[in-house]
Amino acid sequence: SFAQEMDQNDELRKFRDRFLIPRSADGSEVIYFTGNSLGLQPNSVRGYVEQELDDWGNLGVEGHVHAKNPWLPYHEFLTQKMAAIIGAKPIETVVMNSLTVNLHLLLVSFYRPTAERHKVIVEKGAFPSDRYAIESQIRFHGFDPELSLIEVAPRPGESTLRTEDIIEMIEREGNSVATVLLGGVNYYTGQAFEMGQITAAGHKAGAFVGFDLAHAAGNIELNMHDWGVDFAAWCSYKYLNGGPGAVGGAFVHERHANCHDIPRFAGWWGHDKATRFLMGPEFVPLAGVEGWQISNPPILQMAALRASLEIFEEAGMSALVEKSRRLTGYLESLIMAIGDDRISIVTPTDQSQRGCQLSIRVQGGDRSLHDSIVASGVSADWREPDVIRVAPVPLYNSFTDVFRFAEVLRSQLH
Ligand SMILES: *Cc1c(COP(=O)(O)O)cnc(C)c1O
Repeated sequence: SFAQEMDQNDELRKFRDRFLIPRSADGSEVIYFTGNSLGLQPNSVRGYVEQELDDWGNLGVEGHVHAKNPWLPYHEFLTQKMAAIIGAKPIETVVMNSLTVNLHLLLVSFYRPTAERHKVIVEKGAFPSDRYAIESQIRFHGFDPELSLIEVAPRPGESTLRTEDIIEMIEREGNSVATVLLGGVNYYTGQAFEMGQITAAGHKAGAFVGFDLAHAAGNIELNMHDWGVDFAAWCSYKYLNGGPGAVGGAFVHERHANCHDIPRFAGWWGHDKATRFLMGPEFVPLAGVEGWQISNPPILQMAALRASLEIFEEAGMSALVEKSRRLTGYLESLIMAIGDDRISIVTPTDQSQRGCQLSIRVQGGDRSLHDSIVASGVSADWREPDVIRVAPVPLYNSFTDVFRFAEVLRSQLH
């Protein structure tokens, strides 16, 4: 009854009806706690994609200019909405490519090692793709990851990182650090890093600072501009509900907007749009992160993301974060109330150091526990060796979902 009352008083409750909720074989709605992996489909996506299919069918190439939403400037329709989500200015925000691709492109500009300054500081246990990208960048520049890749690890017996340890590592490595690159929210533990403080420490050491916002964008309050972060990249299929393979995003701080001599991999979509179609031989980048674009974007995917970002704009990040904290706090209290010694929560209890994901460690648990939870109508995520990750998403999850999940967990543990 508490959960039902919370749902009734929830001003964001109506947004659940804007999404397609998967169903179990028996027809009941799945408790969908994997929005941190693939966000659900907004009902409006189909119409947005059909609009572009119709315009393509009816107009052919003319659609670049005469489609209802012309394809030439299509990415611009998403800029403002995405900028609001990450706390940036439009000139600092662009929707393009996918996450790891954007990381590489940004590292071309913001990892430029020299004999003295060649190290990259990362978090231990970073998402594998980020690690592969960074290691390959280090090797590409002729350096050795054994010497140039520095990992900050949790203290013995702890699961998450302390900000003071990250800062201490940056200070200790000092002028050997070229770049600091952390996740905004660690995908495994759900820990949100103190990005403003880390950025300040990195800059003091003379390094560039970037964040991978895959698990942060659309999840926690972000202030990329005010924090002074140099660069960031993220994907749009997790909390941002842009659909499988959605177009990702990139941020470059305004202070670099007109640094036209900054090294980058160029393509025609990053060229000054006033003269792009003169097809001249000399590359003149657009001001800001738009100048990092390479190719013209996939309009059908952009249309799906546009539908989703309009929902974010309508709901507003601060209202979403507020509900998220209540929803996640409720989940945490119900899990603790199960009172099973085998269970611990890896994610920080401090609300300012997490988003809506809780990573639940079940000592001695194995995949069969996860499988039985899934068989009970829950979509959750299992990470070896013993962690279940669940994300009650404020746009479409309810307090009743949280209650039902806790009941499933309790019954499967006993
Ligand atoms: C989801 C995720 C990725 C996935 O990379 P893609 O390039 O989108 O396939 C990479 N890094 C992190 C931290 C992630 O959470």
